[in-house]
Amino acid sequence: MEQRNFSFYIVPTPIGNIRDITFRAVDILNKVDIIACEDTRITQKLLNHYDIKTKCISYHKYNERERIDFFLNELRNGKRIALVSDAGTPMICDPGNVIIEELNKNGFTVSALPGACAVTTFLSQLPRNNEEFTFIGFIPRSEKQIEEVVQKYLRNNLVFYESPERILKTLGIIRNLRGDIRVSIGRELSKLYEEVKTDTISRLLEHFKNGIRGEIVCLIYADENPETAELEQKISILKSKGFKDKEISVILSTLYNKKKNEIYKRLLDM
Ligand code: SAM
Repeated sequence: MEQRNFSFYIVPTPIGNIRDITFRAVDILNKVDIIACEDTRITQKLLNHYDIKTKCISYHKYNERERIDFFLNELRNGKRIALVSDAGTPMICDPGNVIIEELNKNGFTVSALPGACAVTTFLSQLPRNNEEFTFIGFIPRSEKQIEEVVQKYLRNNLVFYESPERILKTLGIIRNLRGDIRVSIGRELSKLYEEVKTDTISRLLEHFKNGIRGEIVCLIYADENPETAELEQKISILKSKGFKDKEISVILSTLYNKKKNEIYKRLLDM
């Protein structure tokens, strides 16, 4: 039984296993007058599975603005609407922003249901030494932008979504920048070929050397010793630009006011 009625509900749907939906989400999807969904064919499969007969209207990133008047009119006429995306939680790398902003402006009540989401499903099974993480959605595509974002969050546990076509290349770029650090990859969570692996980038690249399939979420661990992280990052950059080990030792020992052989030793350890 709902304690209170809202005009608009944000309803998470499964990220793989069709049974990962709450009783309450099914109730709400049954009870509302309209389900706004990214791809009506995808949502219809879920609705058929749970024998939900509610009408679906498409709402995706290409028609977000043009649907607003329709939804606002329906709500003014006392109808109730639920928003779903193709998978997981709407608004987490999925459409919803435009309509929520308009609902807030127009004074309609909104309630989000808790539910499936790839980031939280992934993080909830990874040991971490603190609660902090930064989620950036999909990592940018170009090498330069990847470098910028990794550099920006050097001291954070960085979580991102990435496509299976790009993830191995992206890991290579991160290794050039941060060295052979430990990362976690979650693949096909809650599905038949679910796999979560935590290892150094080199060992993960070896593990996935024949390619990687499915949906992917990745965590790059923050370095617990930021100074070491920064130093190793500079070493990696200078190495990738073709500097010799001895030259790197001279440059970094001057910049960081350290002994040359201390840098040289770290260089050899990497
Ligand atoms: N709204 C979704 C959520 O709550 O996680 C995310 C939508 S975003 C468009 C889709 C991306 O989420 C995929 O490309 C993948 O990176 C990640 N993802 C979704 N389902 C996943 C799964 N079962 N396993 C791993 N990653 C997943």
